[in-house]
Amino acid sequence: MSLLGLHHVTAITATAQANVDFYSGTLGLRLVKRTVNQDDVSAYHLFYGDLRGNPGTELTFFEWAHIRPAVRGAGTISRIWLRVPTGSLEGWRERLAERVEAGELGSWGERGALALTDAEGQRIVLVEDDGPAGTESWEPGTVDPSAAVRGLHGVTVTVREADGLDRVLTEVLGLGDLGARPSEPGTSVRAYGLGGAGPGRELYVEEWPDGQRGRYGAGGVHHLALRVADSEAQLEWRERIASAGLNVTEQIDRFYFRSIYFPVPGGVLFEIATDGPGFATDESLERLGDGLSLPPFLEPHRTRIERGLVPIELPRAGSG
Ligand code: ZN
Repeated sequence: MSLLGLHHVTAITATAQANVDFYSGTLGLRLVKRTVNQDDVSAYHLFYGDLRGNPGTELTFFEWAHIRPAVRGAGTISRIWLRVPTGSLEGWRERLAERVEAGELGSWGERGALALTDAEGQRIVLVEDDGPAGTESWEPGTVDPSAAVRGLHGVTVTVREADGLDRVLTEVLGLGDLGARPSEPGTSVRAYGLGGAGPGRELYVEEWPDGQRGRYGAGGVHHLALRVADSEAQLEWRERIASAGLNVTEQIDRFYFRSIYFPVPGGVLFEIATDGPGFATDESLERLGDGLSLPPFLEPHRTRIERGLVPIELPRAGSG
């Protein structure tokens, strides 16, 4: 029984169009599904990823136009790490310099890294990672395939006290402890490894003992999801998580995958999601993300749902 890596990270934006312009137009991710939050259909749920939104490539956003900005601090998912090919970072630095706040090229262990912040304060790190494939490039996308983002590399969780989370990660979820890693000057994170043969194989825990309690909002992250192959594996994990005394939801059918959710010590929400059925179940591969997709149970309400959403336009291929 082992988790197959990160499945997706879900963040929050207050402006869907600016979000599409940046994540698809500038970062070159494909908008693979334009749908709504199934628990709040007034909110877009935008899924970005590779050609078909393979698990481990998905970065998703809820749009809540009136939400307050996120507060950085303990109890949050504080950084999203995206994989880019080795040697591409200088080009990325130049591309990003005019558009967002991007730092100088740095390193992350043996790897080159470039930290950036989107217009809402979302903290992203592009990290050189030529590791396992498991992704399909989107062509013609808005970024040359030789530099294109290749899914998630990892995610950073910030907590006040790491012991409880460490136990859940290693003893319940079976992540490998990769040890301490120097982070910003004077600080370090603990790195954990996920199995599987695709992207999204690292999780970092940053301890911030005296830090304020953070809060999710625009420019912050809502939850992270880990991967399992199918529904049976997910039910086994559900059993195991419940036996460890954690509060875990029933299996929920999200139409594009199935999900269970559980808060972990330190105040962050985790999900486990299945690999399938995927995004090409209700649209062809060529047309993914072109129109508003609704799961069957929401389809009868389409007219009302569409009235509540501000239309968005996709950046054109080659426009970046
Ligand atoms: Zn999710």
